[in-house]
Amino acid sequence: MNFYIRTNLMKQEPMRLGKSKLGSTGLKVSMLGLGGFHQCEVDSDTVGQVVERFIAIGGNYVETARSYGSGASETKLGQALKKHRRKLVLASKTVKRDAEGVWRELNETLEALQTDHLDLYFFHNVSMIEDANAIIAPGGALEAFMRAKAEGMVKHFAISSHWPVILPRLADIIPFEAVLIWGNYLDFCNYPEIPDEILPDLRKRDIGILFMKPLADGYLYRSVENAFRYSLRYSPDCIVSGFNSLKLLNADAAAVIKGPLNDTENESVLTNAPELGNYVCRQCPKCSVLAGRKARSLKALFELEGKYDRQMNDFQPVDSGTYALRQYLGKWFGNAQRAEALFADNSAEFMDIIEPAITHDSNNSFAPCRYGIDIPRKIQIIAAKLSGGQPAKL
Ligand code: SF4
Repeated sequence: MNFYIRTNLMKQEPMRLGKSKLGSTGLKVSMLGLGGFHQCEVDSDTVGQVVERFIAIGGNYVETARSYGSGASETKLGQALKKHRRKLVLASKTVKRDAEGVWRELNETLEALQTDHLDLYFFHNVSMIEDANAIIAPGGALEAFMRAKAEGMVKHFAISSHWPVILPRLADIIPFEAVLIWGNYLDFCNYPEIPDEILPDLRKRDIGILFMKPLADGYLYRSVENAFRYSLRYSPDCIVSGFNSLKLLNADAAAVIKGPLNDTENESVLTNAPELGNYVCRQCPKCSVLAGRKARSLKALFELEGKYDRQMNDFQPVDSGTYALRQYLGKWFGNAQRAEALFADNSAEFMDIIEPAITHDSNNSFAPCRYGIDIPRKIQIIAAKLSGGQPAKL
């Protein structure tokens, strides 16, 4: 067989997405899911082509929200999906917290998606306990969810949050069987409690795990394969991605089919990822810079910066594309204010780390970071960011 024929056959090798059991729902979902947010940005023909290809390679999980394009995503997907409905696990979301609002939105959603039921319906962006309390209050969203379930319009409840820290508490308050949660190598450095505590807790409760933002809202666009394969190490039931072209779908699917990074590949990604560079703290299980309580404080301080702006602003010059992305993606969903408040409440804990860095009395204070982070400089930046200022001369 000559080289030309071999490469041609390789190109046509069929892709096939595996499936996974989604927690206690009994549903089987494809390892890659189609997220509806970015369908608003392309025309209906393109949505149709993406849907056909996705289903042809074994995709079955499709998720959108009433709020995406004020219903435009649901309308486009409804048109593209109607002949495939029986094969799909179809999901949508509502940000409404009252029963009347949910009921109205749910009926609009079903009509737009051209279906009589959703397999999963999400309490969307539940990021404060106040949201949860409103949902379970008399006349709250939960009443409409329960009615919808009793009438067969919704099969299972799910939840999404952009302050994932509170998910275990939410699981004690709201009945849900699946979670949509951030899953990527940048945000696992910013929210180490996701891999360390939240995912094991969700697994223990047999709650299905759907990862969102595998590319950190697009910030990891240079590292698609590594990003998906890193996320797979944490065994999500499905990675939901916003591909809205055949090219993006094929790249995402190829990465998922390749499977998780092994340990050597994983260390190589953590060492060489351009988005982490020599600035983002990897939250190593054993920090090489400090030991004991001080190491915990140092990592907690870096984690707070992660929650503040995802450790994106390192006060170094960058190209204009990177600058624009960082400006747009750094501060999401009010999390910066939550990080500032946490810093203000716990600043005493950090003082014996911050003081030597600020006074440049750091000669013997910090051992080298194994990823080359300039620790005193980073601490000065964080202290300024979290107290609402600018770092002095670095
Ligand atoms: S060694 Fe560096 S990257 Fe690792 S936890 Fe310590 S400061 Fe963070």
